[in-house]
Amino acid sequence: MINPYKNAVSQLKQVAKLLDLSQEVVEVLSKPNKLLKTELEVKMDDGKIKKFQAFRSQHNNAVGPYKGGIRFHPQVSEDEVRALSMWMTWKCSVVGIPYGGGKGGIVVDPKKLSDAELERLSRAYIRFVANDIGSWIDVPAPDVNTNPQIMAWMLDEYEDIKGKKEPGVLTGKPVELGGSLGRTEATGLGGFYILEKLIEVKSLKRENINIAVQGMGNVGYWFADFAANAGYKVVAISDSKGGIYNKDGLHVEKVLNYKNENKTLREYKGAKEITNKDLLELDVDVLVPAALENVITKDNAEEIKAKYIIEMANGPVTPEADEILYKNKIISFPDVLANAGGVTTSYFEWVQNNMGYYWKKEEVFEKLKVIMDKAFMEVWTRYKERKTSLRMAAYVGAVDRVVKAMRLKGRLK
Ligand code: NAD
Repeated sequence: MINPYKNAVSQLKQVAKLLDLSQEVVEVLSKPNKLLKTELEVKMDDGKIKKFQAFRSQHNNAVGPYKGGIRFHPQVSEDEVRALSMWMTWKCSVVGIPYGGGKGGIVVDPKKLSDAELERLSRAYIRFVANDIGSWIDVPAPDVNTNPQIMAWMLDEYEDIKGKKEPGVLTGKPVELGGSLGRTEATGLGGFYILEKLIEVKSLKRENINIAVQGMGNVGYWFADFAANAGYKVVAISDSKGGIYNKDGLHVEKVLNYKNENKTLREYKGAKEITNKDLLELDVDVLVPAALENVITKDNAEEIKAKYIIEMANGPVTPEADEILYKNKIISFPDVLANAGGVTTSYFEWVQNNMGYYWKKEEVFEKLKVIMDKAFMEVWTRYKERKTSLRMAAYVGAVDRVVKAMRLKGRLK
């Protein structure tokens, strides 16, 4: 079993070497500033009380309020939220938005709860963190198995406790409660902007680029849809049950309509059925893992034939696989850059909430492009200068920005 916190600390140590940071700095950055944990008591529909373990990790707030999602999952653990909160610090720093990193979670399988139980659990979580969150303290958001409805319940509970309106305390809210237009498309679109910069710096032509996308959820679908509409050839796409392939390219919107009607991609006309394993090993220009973590491991990394990988899922490549890909000269855009369109648009939501004035979707998309393009160029330039992996280039810039902020505040020597 891979321990995410060990991974996060070992990555930090690698970056520290490149930046010549002292042991003291590594120790400070290895640990969250604050880790809250409790057992939430929730009344179930049958009247019995059940306890659920819950966490909130606040890693670093040198640059701005802590920022990061709340996940509901049976495998949530203290080490997981510690690692994820550290990665959020780096992700916000890579794109240069004024946030630190946080992450929360509840050990629960939400599919086993009724809607009423889920609402009571969500409200209980907010009662637990109410004095440690706030629009200028810590701004949670949805993550695995949490969604805009859960944010709506959480916002209601928070505003009730505080006796005032404060929509910027949480992001990922429904649009009716202050959510941003364009949030749905944002993560996929942010990844698409990375793809556009890649072909620009490499002087490639869109119509010559074949793309395979693993995952057809919120992230994978929008990435594929923006890419296909811009003239790239999306030749393969998959969901949890398997995928489809057509060397001449798929009509992504039609594929989605088919999946919505039939609940599967199987027997889609005009494409060959493939497995998720086949999809990852296709001879394409760009591979986009947009479903789960740890899908490219030491066991299949040698089989990857794509020239470029755009990591839209969080942590789809294990550290051992990363080394193999680097050795094989496969250029991999790390998750902290590629999928940062989501947190960037959460930042836009918070900005709009704080000023009480809302933007059109086109404005959100334009502003997202400015941030993603700038982040791409910073990481790309550092990658060229330092001759390291893109992941290390992204991390070096991210950690450096946080360390500088801490030094300016006198929190580090
Ligand atoms: P989602 O639940 O909407 O979609 C997940 C997709 O993955 C579905 O199509 C599902 O069928 C597919 N899938 C599940 N198991 C699979 C398997 N074993 N093999 C292949 N495909 C499988 O989730 P999402 O919001 O699209 O998120 C996808 C990834 O992107 C996650 O790693 C998430 O953490 C990350 N991410 C999401 C956002 C966001 O804004 N939604 C932001 C940053 C990162």
